[in-house]
Amino acid sequence: MKILVINCGSSSLKYQLIDMNGEEVLAKGLVERIGIEGSRIKHDTTGKERVTIEEPMKDHKRALELVLAAIVDKNHGAVASMDEISAVGHRVVHGGEDFASSVIIDDAVMDALNRNIELAPLHNPPNIMGIEACKELMPNVPMVGVFDTAFHQTIPAENYIYAIPYEYYEKYKIRRYGFHGTSHKYVSMRAAEILGKDIKDLNIVTCHLGNGSSVTAVQGGKSIDTSMGFTPLEGLAMGTRSGDIDPAIIPFIMDKEGLSFEEVNDMLNKKSGVLGISGISSDFRDLEIAAEEGNKRAELALKVFTNRVTKYIAAYAAQMCRIDVLVFTAGIGENSGLIREMVCEGLECMNIMIDKELNNTRGQEAIVSRNLASATIMVIPTNEELMIARDTLELLSNR
Ligand code: ADP
Repeated sequence: MKILVINCGSSSLKYQLIDMNGEEVLAKGLVERIGIEGSRIKHDTTGKERVTIEEPMKDHKRALELVLAAIVDKNHGAVASMDEISAVGHRVVHGGEDFASSVIIDDAVMDALNRNIELAPLHNPPNIMGIEACKELMPNVPMVGVFDTAFHQTIPAENYIYAIPYEYYEKYKIRRYGFHGTSHKYVSMRAAEILGKDIKDLNIVTCHLGNGSSVTAVQGGKSIDTSMGFTPLEGLAMGTRSGDIDPAIIPFIMDKEGLSFEEVNDMLNKKSGVLGISGISSDFRDLEIAAEEGNKRAELALKVFTNRVTKYIAAYAAQMCRIDVLVFTAGIGENSGLIREMVCEGLECMNIMIDKELNNTRGQEAIVSRNLASATIMVIPTNEELMIARDTLELLSNR
């Protein structure tokens, strides 16, 4: 069975066509600048040369039309006809409290997705546009929604309720939701699989460190706490997001600088994090080079970032009584030995110890802890697309 996985952003669209017999990627690609001048698709069919398709794409529907045409193209395509695509799995950022697992999309689900727009005004509308465009272009193909928030719906109330008047939870559903759930679920399952253990017996902490970053405590296969909250702004310091700050800073700066709500939101989401501290870049490669060359603010940014990760890991160790497995994933977690080492420095008091030689690895599955350490430290490249395809397959098989 062949499944198409779609991840729609506001002006971008990522896709993968996966053959579930053997979980093999047949084709994948990225559409950029949808609705903006200079739209293009970078399309790769496995075993063939990359093609770049440059054509105006006024909306997601046009983009998807061209993606589907690329997938079935005689020369650079991956399948002979659209009929070979059995289902489409869509990444959806926010499922609110409506979805604790993936679902087959029907009218009731579309209503719930639209209701949840106010919880994720930037992310859910493009996800919905992608689903609607697919439904128009492939009306008889089943669609599945896979939510970034779903894995975290097992978090107990004491970890998701904020200490503000309870009525705001009741009226507006203000609570911790958590994000990157598909990634945290994938790497925690993969960790158990690699170690040959039952996930039910493991306390795992997963660190998804990329442009956006979050840490999750996974006990017995279930998320019991995570660092992102009502929005993906809470928790770790990120590329350009502040993560945790004293909320009183917000009205203070608004007053001093005469900022509007929109401007302060923009500052916290786009001008803060390691970019804000260093004044150099949000990209950890640039910061590592700058710090190496003696730039003190770059060094400080890396230290603020890693200290915060260490703090969350230690907090989750306390919540679960022990950590059996610590996983690093996503752009930074998979590739930066330095960041992994800096994070683990603060964990030595708990006998969580990284092996510097084994840690000299990037972009592949590896165990990097010292022999006698109390927790197994692992690097596991995430694979959200495969997880979405697996959920889609499972839902269709159970229909
Ligand atoms: P996204 O959240 O957009 O999916 P990724 O998981 O791809 O992000 O992570 C992107 C980030 O990974 C980049 O901003 C960069 O800081 C970091 N990164 C990628 N490669 C390296 C590397 N070799 N060393 C340090 N950081 C890296």
